[in-house]
Amino acid sequence: MWQVLVACSACAEETEVLVGDLDDVDREVCPCGYSYVVLSVSAFEPVYAERAPLLELPRPQKLPKAA
Ligand SMILES: [Zn+2]
Repeated sequence: MWQVLVACSACAEETEVLVGDLDDVDREVCPCGYSYVVLSVSAFEPVYAERAPLLELPRPQKLPKAA
């Protein structure tokens, strides 16, 4: 997927859209009726579920030995 930052060509409204194909950006239109101009494009990978969270293991605590 693609995360595309777009701006309206008429009212300068900026928004981000997620599209599967960059051609889909052409179908996105501003609520004011004008089409968007692409400002920047970045790859978007929805893979949160596949990445195991980094687990922080509890460290064995060194307790001071009682005398
Ligand atoms: Zn607009």
